[in-house]
Amino acid sequence: MRKVILTGDRPTGKLHVGHYAGSLKRRVELQNSGEFDDIFIMIADAQALTDNADNPEKVRQNIIEVALDYLACGLDPEKSTLLIQSQIPELCEMSFYYMNLVTVSRLQRNPTVKAEIQLRNFEASIPVGFFTYPISQAADITAFRATTVPVGEDQMPMLEQTREIVHKFNTVYGETLTMPNILLPDNQACMRLPGIDGKAKMSKSLGNCIYLSDTEEEVRKKIMSMFTDPNHLRVEDPGRVEGNPVFIYLDAFSKPEHFEQFLPDYANLDELKAHYTRGGLGDVKVKKFLNRVMQAELEPIRERRKVWEKRIPEVYEILEQGSKKAQSVAAQTLADMKRAMKINYFEDRELIEKQAASYAEESGNK
Ligand code: ATP
Ligand code: MG
Repeated sequence: MRKVILTGDRPTGKLHVGHYAGSLKRRVELQNSGEFDDIFIMIADAQALTDNADNPEKVRQNIIEVALDYLACGLDPEKSTLLIQSQIPELCEMSFYYMNLVTVSRLQRNPTVKAEIQLRNFEASIPVGFFTYPISQAADITAFRATTVPVGEDQMPMLEQTREIVHKFNTVYGETLTMPNILLPDNQACMRLPGIDGKAKMSKSLGNCIYLSDTEEEVRKKIMSMFTDPNHLRVEDPGRVEGNPVFIYLDAFSKPEHFEQFLPDYANLDELKAHYTRGGLGDVKVKKFLNRVMQAELEPIRERRKVWEKRIPEVYEILEQGSKKAQSVAAQTLADMKRAMKINYFEDRELIEKQAASYAEESGNK
């Protein structure tokens, strides 16, 4: 079976280190592994409009930011197809048919959507498009026959919903759609990177992010002001590493060679954590180390971004070509679906001939 990746991001802001840890870094590794037949990376502008309908300019401006972040991280248009969701009308058609296979109460049970509704104060009046975005996400995944979806933990309910739709569709209409699998980060800290304010998730909508495009100085300032253990007041106090964002970021990003290079007093992260836990290690020292680690990771990304920022028309060309390729793939899947659903009247010669013969016979009998 062909191995295909589909994943993407909403153009609601620049991408941050949570995206990088949760999905982007993995995508680049998978792309370069050469193990996949096709890789589709989607800028989900139609989904972004489901909760930004009154702010189309925001979505429009962030297309290029997300694309630049992709290229900066090492996504290579020669190996991965970069596309814009709204340019693939087939996705709307697929969603329309999937809606018949999902109940309202099933959508209401989605814990990520529940949390997002609360966050956006949508409780009293949820836009229908927002409420149903897990269905449109099922269209995104199935249109490209994705087998593998590398995403952060918040996307688990979406994948479950997609798998249910695939199962239902194939049961009702016959084996047509490909069953996708989620690929979560193998590092626990990357599943859901917290914000610099200590909130459970770094998120564009919460404004608690370190962006991939932040300058060296911005990154340093954000790290030095990060939330840590609120009870770790004096250096000699014992500190907590669990739930402490500084240590979660170190879990996500530090490598053994960083200790050798930047903090040779400690052999590894376990030793650093042990010292913090027993007391006698100040937050400033840990934060300075984290800053070195993050700068080492972000510097090459920043440099590549600067190069692509000088080639904006070329970036749009890449997106246009990618969207065209993606559209032709989606059109084939949709044709297969319509055949399975028996709504392919004009290509079904047999149907037409049979009905013609039956009417001819009837009039012959009269
Ligand atoms: P928004 O607030 O507009 O929903 P977002 O920051 O949640 O934006 P998305 O575009 O919804 O970003 O998510 C894109 C991808 O990044 C998804 O695969 C998601 O799982 C992953 N992701 C987002 N935030 C994090 C995070 N803090 N930690 C790990 N993965 C994340
Ligand atoms: Mg999100």
